[in-house]
Amino acid sequence: MDLPSLALPDFAPGSVWLVGAGPGDPGLLSLLALHALQRADSVVYDALVDPRILALARPGAALDYAGKRGGKPSPQQPAISEHLVRLARAGRRVLRLKGGDPFVFGRGGEEALALAAAGIPFRVVPGITAAIGGLAYAGIPATHRDVNSAVTFITGHASDGALPGGLDWTALARGAPVLVLYMALKHLDVIAERLIAAGRSPEEPVAVVSKATTPAQRVIETTLARAAADVAAAAIEPPAIVAVGEAVRLRASLDWLAAP
Ligand code: SAH
Repeated sequence: MDLPSLALPDFAPGSVWLVGAGPGDPGLLSLLALHALQRADSVVYDALVDPRILALARPGAALDYAGKRGGKPSPQQPAISEHLVRLARAGRRVLRLKGGDPFVFGRGGEEALALAAAGIPFRVVPGITAAIGGLAYAGIPATHRDVNSAVTFITGHASDGALPGGLDWTALARGAPVLVLYMALKHLDVIAERLIAAGRSPEEPVAVVSKATTPAQRVIETTLARAAADVAAAAIEPPAIVAVGEAVRLRASLDWLAAP
């Protein structure tokens, strides 16, 4: 497929495109992302990039895995950044493909800083982040008039695997009626406790969307008090997002994916 009429920007040899692949469904790729896949010489991708998206890469492109595999630790972030710089200096068109959006909990900023410091030309192509894609495919509006005028994205996992220490849970609990948590399954019990201690109702509805926008998508609806136990009982697997707030109730009418 060619996209000639759109006059998309040239993917110059020796440059890096930092591209969001979206949460899974290849139909959620941007035209710029598809354009980059069709032209890249090297595709450096993460674990969360859907295989159906990698299959869109130009035949002959080198596919380079830069994520966790078989329980082994992931390559150190500086090593990935250095790899991108090396490939670009070798004159390749380098596509750095990341799940969701590259600048949302994806360390895209760190890689972009390394490219900037090395003087490598780069472009950032946003992707549909898991919270947005996951809520849409679960039939939950991220904002809805009369329900919430603010929504907060939170990570439940710091780089060392612990709950991020810098989070002010009281402020987060009060700050927005709808919270969407990334990487939150491991510490969901503690997160729910903190939110309840900060004043959120134990009965507040929660939706957990696992493998959103893929054929393996699963959604469970629960409450803040029961969320951790229900996730364990249903054997919900990562990656998953956790949505907290009254907007979750709209799913009863809006679950278009399950509709006949
Ligand atoms: N840059 C990515 C986020 C990377 S952090 C983005 O913008 O989406 C990884 C976390 O993203 C996972 O732990 C999970 O919370 C979430 N995530 C990524 N893909 C997902 C998917 N298909 N379904 C549900 N959650 C997903």
